[in-house]
Amino acid sequence: MLPKFFNSVLGSSGFAVMQNLAKASVELESYLSPRIIVGWLRHSLYGRIVVPTECPLTKLNKSGYGYSGATNIDGVDYSFSNSSEEHVAAVITIALGKSVEPVDVKDIDLARLAKTIDLLCKAAPKAPANQYQHTVTAQPLQPEEPKQPDLNQPATNKTKNNITKPIKSKIPKIPGVRPLVQKPIKITKSESLKKCDVCGQQMFLDNVFVGCICFSPLAKNCKCTVDKDNITITFDEEWDDDSVLALVGVLKDGR
Ligand SMILES: [Zn+2]
Repeated sequence: MLPKFFNSVLGSSGFAVMQNLAKASVELESYLSPRIIVGWLRHSLYGRIVVPTECPLTKLNKSGYGYSGATNIDGVDYSFSNSSEEHVAAVITIALGKSVEPVDVKDIDLARLAKTIDLLCKAAPKAPANQYQHTVTAQPLQPEEPKQPDLNQPATNKTKNNITKPIKSKIPKIPGVRPLVQKPIKITKSESLKKCDVCGQQMFLDNVFVGCICFSPLAKNCKCTVDKDNITITFDEEWDDDSVLALVGVLKDGR
C-alpha cells in the first residue's frame, strides 16, 4: 500500500492508478513510493513546501541548494539540509516505517512509468499557497522597451545608437536553444486503440486524443488530424521530449 498522502500529491485518480500498480508486486511498490516523492518535490515551488497531512515530515523547504526539513524517526528528531530529492524520499520512506530496498523490476518500462508519475504530480491540484510560500516562478527575461531619446538632448548627439528598432517578439531568442515545440507524430488508427500499460485506459476517442489518466493533463495541448488510415498528432510547447517519447512508447509498444 502506498502512503495515503500520495492522494494529494497525485490527485485521486492518479493515486488509484499507482495504488493498483503497487498492489501488483512488492518490487514495484518499493520503486513507486520514492519515485512519486521525487516527482512531488520536483514539481513543488521554491520556498516552504506545504507538507500534506500524513506525510511524516514536520517541515520542508526547497531552495536552489536542495531541500531542508525535519521529521521524527522512532522518537528521534532528524533534520536534513541542502539534500537531494532522493535523500528526502529515503527519509520519508524510513520515517513511514518502510524499508529502502534495491528494485529489480523487469516487467514494466520504468522510464515511462517515471514520466507518468511526473505528469500526475504536475497535474495534481496544488495545496493552497500560504503567506510564507514563494509563488514566483522563473520567467524568461523581457527585453527592455525601446526608450525615446531625451527631448533635451542636443540634436548633434542623435547618433545611430539612439535609434532603436521596435522589438517584435516578447520572448527573446536564445542562440543555440531550439524551439520547444515537438515534431508531429503519425500513428495508425489501430495503434490509437492501444491501451496505456500503466492505467489500462484508452487514449483516443473517435480518433481524438483524450488521454488516459496519465496523459489526460496534456490532452488539451495537442491536436489530431485524421486521414484515411492515420492520425497525425501535433503538440504545443507543454509537451516536452520525454512526454512525446512516453506517448510513442505506449502507442507503439503498449498492450
Ligand atoms: Zn495511462
